[in-house]
Amino acid sequence: MARQLALLLPFAAVLVACGSDGSPVSGAPSATASSTIAAATATGGSIPSEGARTAGGATPTVSGGTAGSATASPGASSTPGVAASAATSPAVVGPRRVIDLLRVPVGDGKVSTSARAGYVWRCGGGAGGPGGGASVKGPWFNSDGTYNATAKAIVDGAIGWPSSFTASRSGSSRILTGNALPNHVTGRFPIQPSDDAYQYDRNPNFISQQTLAVTLPADPQVAAQASCVSPPFVAVLASGSVVFDALDALNRDAGAWETQDRCAGHPQRTGQYHYHTVTACVADSDSGHSALLGWAVDGFGLFGVRGERGETLTNDNLDACHGHAHEVEWDGRQVTMYHYHATYEYPYTISCYRGTPARLPATGGGAPPPRP
Ligand SMILES: [Zn+2]
Ligand SMILES: [Zn+2]
Repeated sequence: MARQLALLLPFAAVLVACGSDGSPVSGAPSATASSTIAAATATGGSIPSEGARTAGGATPTVSGGTAGSATASPGASSTPGVAASAATSPAVVGPRRVIDLLRVPVGDGKVSTSARAGYVWRCGGGAGGPGGGASVKGPWFNSDGTYNATAKAIVDGAIGWPSSFTASRSGSSRILTGNALPNHVTGRFPIQPSDDAYQYDRNPNFISQQTLAVTLPADPQVAAQASCVSPPFVAVLASGSVVFDALDALNRDAGAWETQDRCAGHPQRTGQYHYHTVTACVADSDSGHSALLGWAVDGFGLFGVRGERGETLTNDNLDACHGHAHEVEWDGRQVTMYHYHATYEYPYTISCYRGTPARLPATGGGAPPPRP
């Protein structure tokens, strides 16, 4: 049952593995997740119906007249490609392009030391770590430097967790607190030998609760200069769990190499459940611009894959840090501001910060979150 099609495919990602068995399971499987989202901006964390968010076949309608010149990318017409938009607004730049989910370019080694489109600007240049990651190159890799996002093995299981999460605004701050367990089901970790995903990735870690306590600027400002991303995470989603950048311990494309569960997440060594790509288990809007999925460490919002006209965004539509600026709803008001977007292609989410990242406390229940 692992290949559940497309749904979350694109967003699966990676990780892990760092050899040691992680911490013991803290949450009893079963409880229903009870995340509380105080902020008016948050979107609920319900599991979307599978049909609704399938990436494949969801060719977005681009209303409002397509303006840009249509420069189709090679070989992108067949398939469940995700259509990208044309340059219909000042915020959208670049040629029209389509992300073919059957042939998503693998981002291995795309780590930079400055803001660069299509790369992750990791502090220190991507030091990597002692982790493991996928042990075998899955059959979903194509021979041309791309991978079939619709054919990745998905970790089995549907375990519920006693999630606790609150996002509240207090003066000029946004305070995120919780136990980092997701308010949606997860796969069964460690990955079981009976799971087909085990053939490629033997993530030995258990999911466990962490101490999440982050204070971000509620109305972030663009900094004079962009800055690099670094562990432990780049964003916190409304599900109560965190987002890691696109790299695995070997500076490989986590979305291409690693196996995740149906919600595109998995635990690292200290048991912290996280995503590297965007999950289909945090509700997005059904049309138009994507909903706010969570908050980046610099306080700016992280939205889903769709732009202002409902078009599916590609890296071409975003800046080097994976964001752009235009009017969005922010804490119940319409505000023109910078924000990040997720895409179905590497680097998937935030690749550098436009704002000033908050200094994160040691998370992970005390242990420094090692990079998977
Ligand atoms: Zn990971
Ligand atoms: Zn946007």
